[in-house]
Amino acid sequence: MPDNLALGIDLGGSKIYAVVTDASNTVIADAKTSTNPSAGPEQTANTMKETALAALAKLELSLADISYFGAAIPSPVDPETGDCLHAVNLGWKKVSMLGIMKKTFGYDFKLGNDGNLGQLGEHFCGAAKEFHSSVGFFIGTGLGGGIVVENKLLTGNQGLAGELGHTIIRVGGRRCGCGRRGCAEAYCSKKAFVKALKKEVFKRGATTLLPIEKFNPETKNIKSKYLARAYNEDDPSVRKVVDKGLRMLGIAAASTVATVAPQCIVLGGGFVEAMGEQVIIPFKSSFHRHLFGISPSDIEVRISLLGDHAVAVGATILARGTDRK
Ligand SMILES: [Zn+2]
Repeated sequence: MPDNLALGIDLGGSKIYAVVTDASNTVIADAKTSTNPSAGPEQTANTMKETALAALAKLELSLADISYFGAAIPSPVDPETGDCLHAVNLGWKKVSMLGIMKKTFGYDFKLGNDGNLGQLGEHFCGAAKEFHSSVGFFIGTGLGGGIVVENKLLTGNQGLAGELGHTIIRVGGRRCGCGRRGCAEAYCSKKAFVKALKKEVFKRGATTLLPIEKFNPETKNIKSKYLARAYNEDDPSVRKVVDKGLRMLGIAAASTVATVAPQCIVLGGGFVEAMGEQVIIPFKSSFHRHLFGISPSDIEVRISLLGDHAVAVGATILARGTDRK
């Protein structure tokens, strides 16, 4: 039986992923389920456990065979207490998630923010592997972020570092799920795309190729694959909204570069996974224009290498410890 195994769970706004990694950080089994956004923390922790057990079942293993347990939640996580401070997309505020996870699983856990851990995964095992400093943006239901400086994940005051989706890029701009206006997430996330598309199509009468059962006045979120398909078919509304979102993301990223000076920017998350390399062109069109001091050729922009597994793999790295060998 393999030892030194780690379990990593990624609780996202629409999916829960679980991975098991071996000592070389290679994923040896995985499983996924859908998130029930109206379920409370306890019920969600149970679903996370079921997902983890489904991954372990593929290896004919149980929780007792795991040496390290890590999980990511879509909220800032207080590094001292493990409290989830505000999961905007799940509607949770100030939840003692670490306690709930320990009780549900019967094992100690390391918890982190999903964007932070996504970048931790990409930095140590993915697209930014050869660099010492990198920043990631993860476009999914929301917009997550993570910052690694000199091989150390920034968590900061109350775990709030790397909340790049809530960088304000337009004063008085679009309303964000966090209650403020003008955040990057209000322009570049699936929720933001849906909101902007509804305005284009149902208010301004623009056309779209999105199927009516997936996109109508009641729609709050949409699967990345439908957006990517419409984008690839030159849907004028989807192209307009998505390209603008990516240009706005370029502004947020350039502002982050002025603070952190990373060697590499990683773009990831379910939406980027579905779209592929083509997100780089609209992103770079504004990113390069807004950079200060650094030449565009001195900063790499890469697509996530770990894809849907980035956050869960990052959770296993957090659980194992992050000292680079
Ligand atoms: Zn916000």
